[in-house]
Amino acid sequence: MTQKADNSFETLILIRLGEIALKGMNRGKFEGQLMRNIRNRLRSVGKFKITQSQSRIWAEPLEETVDIEAAMFAISNVFGLVSVSPVRSFAGDIQNIADQSIQYVGELLADGKKRSFKVESRRGNKRFPLNSPQISNEIGGALLTAYPDLLTVDVHNPDFTLYVEVRDNNYIYHTILKAHKGLPVGMGGRGMLLLSGGIDSPVAGYMMASRGMQIDAVYFHAFPFTSNQAKEKVIELARLLTQYTGSIRLHVVNFTDIQLKIRDDSPIDMITIVMRRIMMRIAEKIAQQRGCKALITGESLGQVASQTLEALVTTDQVVGCPVFRPLIGLDKDDTVQIARKIGTFETSILPYEDCCTVFVAKHPKTHPSLDHAVEAEGNLEIDELVRQGLENIEVIDL
Ligand code: ATP
Ligand code: MG
Repeated sequence: MTQKADNSFETLILIRLGEIALKGMNRGKFEGQLMRNIRNRLRSVGKFKITQSQSRIWAEPLEETVDIEAAMFAISNVFGLVSVSPVRSFAGDIQNIADQSIQYVGELLADGKKRSFKVESRRGNKRFPLNSPQISNEIGGALLTAYPDLLTVDVHNPDFTLYVEVRDNNYIYHTILKAHKGLPVGMGGRGMLLLSGGIDSPVAGYMMASRGMQIDAVYFHAFPFTSNQAKEKVIELARLLTQYTGSIRLHVVNFTDIQLKIRDDSPIDMITIVMRRIMMRIAEKIAQQRGCKALITGESLGQVASQTLEALVTTDQVVGCPVFRPLIGLDKDDTVQIARKIGTFETSILPYEDCCTVFVAKHPKTHPSLDHAVEAEGNLEIDELVRQGLENIEVIDL
């Protein structure tokens, strides 16, 4: 950050770290990954210089025309952060801070509406002659004098708070945009998300990515039983997830023939279980090819017949890697709330069929034993079906 002459200022984005601040020895690695993720995410917004000082990260726009709002939003979706603020940065003494604050608040008040406010100050530079309460008093007083008809002080419930920080430079801001916390994507290994067009699986992917997991995805598509719109919907969901996860490789497995064989050659009340076991096997193979060490699904205990404990056990049996089900203990309402927050809900509820619901039995087995499941696959050439799935994959990079 460069110091400029009086009355000029720079707009910077102040980025506050989350849980990483607690990391001991590994902190440097986590911060390095976080800086890379922020850089990547900002690339589509404009040119920025990203620097770090005192457990904060700064993004400084290098072009005049940068869309700060868009940058703020992009940064706030990077996991590992608590919040983001656009700040004005300038040099000088208490008089400069007062002048800049008057100008800054004047812009907020441009609509002529009356507002209550307070000033909160922090002094990181102990050589600055005023302490924090004194800075707040000075600036609050200067603002009241400048805008006597528009401003009143309310320290408990103000319409806005002007934050003043005195450090190597002076900073003022009033917006704190909450971020999504978690850990930087890339620090938690790689996982393969079974992504359907429903509400749950995008949320499951978001949750694992929030723990630092890099996400790849697989979607089982059974055209013409599932339409091209259903596939487009899944692609859109994956694209929406990239706002949080960074790039995703989506594998679209052509599942039609496999599904028809399952329908023809397994007991009707076990179709869903058999189908899910074959999906898991194929997903695990793709996961291995991609270096993914876990599968991720949107299952929640007891939500539907195929999500009873017994049903989950039968699907786990066919894979060797861990299956992460971050929604397992969540109420559907809570999942919906997350889906709304991350912006996938509206796409998920678009009415296109899912291959899990194309050939469902009226009375599926809800408590299948492992023997049941193995027996139900007796007439199928499982290895052959898995091989067939692996040979019919369309790869989409998002
Ligand atoms: P979702 O809302 O994620 O579709 P759901 O409540 O509809 O979940 P199921 O249809 O039983 O539940 O699917 C359970 C999980 O299996 C999904 O969350 C997803 O991870 C995976 N899954 C289901 N269908 C597919 C598919 N066609 N392709 C990839 N994964 C799938
Ligand atoms: Mg579904």
